[in-house]
Amino acid sequence: MDCLFCKIINGDIPSECIYEDEFVYAFNDIDKQAPVHFLIVPKEHIKSADDLEEKHNELIGHIFLVAKKLAKENGLVDGYRVVNNCKEDGGQTVGHIHFHVFGGRSMQWPPG
Ligand code: 5GP
Ligand code: ZN
Repeated sequence: MDCLFCKIINGDIPSECIYEDEFVYAFNDIDKQAPVHFLIVPKEHIKSADDLEEKHNELIGHIFLVAKKLAKENGLVDGYRVVNNCKEDGGQTVGHIHFHVFGGRSMQWPPG
């Protein structure tokens, strides 16, 4: 399958992996928007949040617990932001669902 993140998960494209288990792969974003900026992606190829089904409930919960664990490991004691961009209007540019985790600075709101 011609999917950038599937290739990263498989190791066909190199990445800075910071965590991996049976269900997810986490790696530093190539274009950091904060002192800490990594992505958590499920190993299952799911196109977007709009393609989630009931069977993915546990997976999505797991992703948030991985975000919490990695935030702690990165010293984000004052908080962090988890972002999912969904499809075109949501700003999604890679068609494999992923969750950004940003930290290390104060975030702005609302998003642009
Ligand atoms: P999106 O805009 O779809 O929410 O986020 C895609 C993210 O993937 C962007 O933040 C972008 O910098 C990151 N990205 C795109 N290509 C690569 C790559 O080859 N390696 C890594 N590590 N990140 C990538
Ligand atoms: Zn994929």
